Amino acid sequence: MFRTHHCGQLRITDVNKTITLSGWVAKRRDFGGLTFVDLRDRYGITQLSFNEEVNADLIQHARQLGREFVIKIEGLVTERSNKNSKIPTGDIEIVVHSLQVLNVSLTPPFTIEENTDGGDDIRMQYRYLDLRREPVRNNLILRHQVAKHVRQYLDQLDFIEVETPVLIKSTPEGARDFVVPSRMNPGQFYALPQSPQTFKQLLMVSGFDKYYQIVKCFRDEDLRADRQPEFTQIDCELSFVEQEDILRIFEGLVQHLFSQVKGVEIVQLPRITYDEAMTWYGNDKPDIRFEMKFNYLTELTKGKNFPVFDAAETVLGICATGCATYTRKQLDELTEWVKRPQIGAKGLVYVFCQADGTFKSSVDKFYTQEDLAEWAKVCNAQPGDLLLLLSGDTKKVQKQMSELRLEMGERLGYRDKTVFKALWVLDFPLLERDEESGRWHAMHHPFTSPKPSDIPLLDTNPGDIKANAYDLVINGVEIGGGSIRIFDKQLQAKMFKTLGFTDEEARYQFGFLMNAFEYGAPPHGGIALGFDRLCSLFGGADSIRDFIAFPKNNQGRDMMIDAPSTIHSQQLNELGINLLGN
Ligand code: ASP
Repeated sequence: MFRTHHCGQLRITDVNKTITLSGWVAKRRDFGGLTFVDLRDRYGITQLSFNEEVNADLIQHARQLGREFVIKIEGLVTERSNKNSKIPTGDIEIVVHSLQVLNVSLTPPFTIEENTDGGDDIRMQYRYLDLRREPVRNNLILRHQVAKHVRQYLDQLDFIEVETPVLIKSTPEGARDFVVPSRMNPGQFYALPQSPQTFKQLLMVSGFDKYYQIVKCFRDEDLRADRQPEFTQIDCELSFVEQEDILRIFEGLVQHLFSQVKGVEIVQLPRITYDEAMTWYGNDKPDIRFEMKFNYLTELTKGKNFPVFDAAETVLGICATGCATYTRKQLDELTEWVKRPQIGAKGLVYVFCQADGTFKSSVDKFYTQEDLAEWAKVCNAQPGDLLLLLSGDTKKVQKQMSELRLEMGERLGYRDKTVFKALWVLDFPLLERDEESGRWHAMHHPFTSPKPSDIPLLDTNPGDIKANAYDLVINGVEIGGGSIRIFDKQLQAKMFKTLGFTDEEARYQFGFLMNAFEYGAPPHGGIALGFDRLCSLFGGADSIRDFIAFPKNNQGRDMMIDAPSTIHSQQLNELGINLLGN
């Protein structure tokens, strides 16, 4: 028997029990005739003690233990004289009677402790050691909890979990596909699913009514902190539902998860339209933990001979509460910040709302106290506040102001990771036009239904069509998105046409779906939530990487197994692939 207990289990009430533990040597401390070993397993740490006077041979043996050796011990649970209130087992220690080394270990390349000395790369390379660290392990335990509660909630609503294939034909979700060559069909390729979109719709045609799957998806995109080439979605689809049904059910899921996993009660989610989100926050995934909405000052600022504002399509202002204390240096730095290429503003105009009720601005030459008082009123600014103004083309300036708003929110401490604010963003445009090619693209995906009243616009003004599409946003992160689907073959065909597919291309790519729609497709809709993002949000982290057991780095590499890698020429030949192209 390897153990009677685990390393996080024993308490003062267990004193005088003879027990067996197995685990890893986290630390060894030698003093005169005493040696202490911290023994670690998934559940915690228990202190072992060896005393020269009790057993001289045994302490010699213990002093040969290196970090991360795997050992088994037997001993007596004893009350500690020097208690450690920081760990649950801190009141006791084990006076060891027998020690067996089950396996030795090389010295690990970084310390396996809560705060490690290992850099990112080395920890990725030795991920299996990083996973021994408590914070990383806790992230995966959290992930397990979230998955469990997702299943519990959906099961209770009669959803059925169905697996869909991983080797498929490419689905156009906007990203690049990963492809897999087929040995048995030379020159042909499978694609890895960007999502199970078409399959879940086919399951609705099959009558499954309510489907879900916690499923791996693959997108060959440039990577960022919240993106991985393979990631996990909570993918769902329902039949005979309207948008309202879906919003209600998944609002319920969000509430269930927050309450079960975080002990946080989330009230009914506010809903705003895409147009409102863009107008007030310049962003389709607004962070509503704080207000700082945009104020439109275009009309008020015109005609006073300030050429920059006179020439601008839109002048936007935000009010930074209490920031009239900003120094010249801070404002110069903020101005440089908005001028960085990533933000791209030409400059920043500011107005101090001073304690005595007067104003001081960077444009005093052009605007009177009365003018500035007007702006302050519109922005709802009080003495002590600071107004920040940007100007330019509407879309561009909204985007820039969105960045500035988030930055100011961060600086003012409004983006507290322990506060959660979720909302629905509704009524997304169905299509967006690619500036370069002039072609229409589906904003969500080509199976999304236009709002029924907007269908006639397909022939006249596709850009104005709104979709029955919705996003779930939490703390400024897009956690999920979905739509009511087209279930009528004719409308789907028309949609493909608008997207620039010929009949033949549409048939080649989506014939299977169009055919299925001829056999009694029910009205249906669904949603997918980013599982990794949800976990990192619950864990209070920005990166999803820490919530994935074996993630890839920013170059899309698995540093541990060293993938991707070249393959043997024989393998290439079998696949009919000639890399030299001759
Ligand atoms: N398949 C979509 C996505 O991955 C979600 C959906 O429409 O259900 O974003």
